[in-house]
Amino acid sequence: MTAKLLQRTVLGLLACAAATNASAVATITIINTDGAGEGFNDPAVPAADAGCQSGETLGQCRLRVFNVAAAQWGQLLDSDVTITVNAAMNPLTCAGSSATLGSAGPLSAFADFPNAPKPATAYQAALANSLAGEDLAPTTSDIRAQFNVSMDNGTCLNGTAGWWYDTNPNTPRPANRTPLLPVVFHEIGHGLGFTSLYDNADGTQLTDDTPIWGYYLYDEETHKYWKDMTDAERNVSKINDPHLVWAGTRTNKQSPKFLGPPAKLIVNSPAGIAGNYDAQTAEFGANVATHPATGDVVYVDDGVVGAVDADHPTAGTVNDGCETPFANAAAVAGKIALVDRGYCNFTLKAKNAQLAGAIGVIVANNAASGLPGMGGSDASITIPSLGVAQATGTSIKANLASPGVNATLGTEIGAPLAGTQSGCIRLNAPDPVVLGSSVSHFTADAFPNLLMEPALNTTIFDKVDLTLPLFQDIGWHTGVENILFLDGFDPNPCPFVQP
Ligand SMILES: [Zn+2]
Repeated sequence: MTAKLLQRTVLGLLACAAATNASAVATITIINTDGAGEGFNDPAVPAADAGCQSGETLGQCRLRVFNVAAAQWGQLLDSDVTITVNAAMNPLTCAGSSATLGSAGPLSAFADFPNAPKPATAYQAALANSLAGEDLAPTTSDIRAQFNVSMDNGTCLNGTAGWWYDTNPNTPRPANRTPLLPVVFHEIGHGLGFTSLYDNADGTQLTDDTPIWGYYLYDEETHKYWKDMTDAERNVSKINDPHLVWAGTRTNKQSPKFLGPPAKLIVNSPAGIAGNYDAQTAEFGANVATHPATGDVVYVDDGVVGAVDADHPTAGTVNDGCETPFANAAAVAGKIALVDRGYCNFTLKAKNAQLAGAIGVIVANNAASGLPGMGGSDASITIPSLGVAQATGTSIKANLASPGVNATLGTEIGAPLAGTQSGCIRLNAPDPVVLGSSVSHFTADAFPNLLMEPALNTTIFDKVDLTLPLFQDIGWHTGVENILFLDGFDPNPCPFVQP
């Protein structure tokens, strides 16, 4: 199971009870649209390890998570108009290695309402209501959100046991469960305004008026804002990675507070192979940005060639780190463990290395191209891990016997912030386009990871990071703006910013 592969999608605009009240923070109301006996109304007793509270039905348990996410978002935003979310648990795309966890978006958008900041400009419903100070469509909800109920019936993601419903990020989570709270938090973010309002299929506007995102979506190769492009030009720009950036003042002013240089495997010696190597960070264990590790590298010998069986179509090796204790545990203690990808989960390799006393783990890919995905969850792992290319692993192994290899799991000092281009935060613009994912997410290259990246990163849980200044860029008043976002990096690292 690799949570890194999970995709979340954004719905396009859809057509669809609301109330207003005055409040210092925003009130977000979840409207359960599931039918009798299903989803939020499921009367089943939850699995004992699903993180539900005593006495809850499965449906009540699910709805509690939504209400926690809504309440937390409400604390961050300032709106006198209640934000209404139609929410349901439905069967969504499922496969062995990837699944759509959820999708959400605004149900409508409005332009030229009272107090609209820009004329002839479309704002997502919840934002427009907030700016207008009244509910512009009082018989319609503002946001629609749905989540994959199939996660709980064993048909999604190899080896998964279903959703994890505990909302405390500090509660140890079973390795085979996927936390629902960060997914709900992310999807509500789409509904509140993290949605371009452009059609990924053809580059057209989904609204009659220019979407507010059109002022800030900028192609730093063609030097055009999306509001000034033709549909055809937007069709090119949507896949023009890494050149599609966000040109909002506040987001870029804040980006150095949230982003760092990219994670790297830094080989310190010998001189012949010294340098920075591309590396994939792990979803488990320590973050190499805040907890780097330096030491001599030791190639693991776990002493066991794992057998072929129903769960393992290919035999293991003594170097895969899948068995414990390691045959060379004494040599691994206090050092950085090098293991090969394959046969077992990344988390098991890292846990076994930690049990042997390793201070960090390098996973060398077992395929010629790409980096290991490094997904998974095990709260008991406290050491950092990085995945590296097969070729990187090969050159390290060639130098281990003599003269030996010393390396750092860390970040590339002095490099541009990961996920930026020309000083501006990048948006997700892969080629080919991914309908429902492209443009309306930050780039997956951001490091440390951000809430609004395309795939779930369980290390985020309920942090909003750069999403809040982006909301300020498009017009949201946020409850913490005078505390958290008063200052920022100056001059603005992005030269293309618009007010
Ligand atoms: Zn998303």
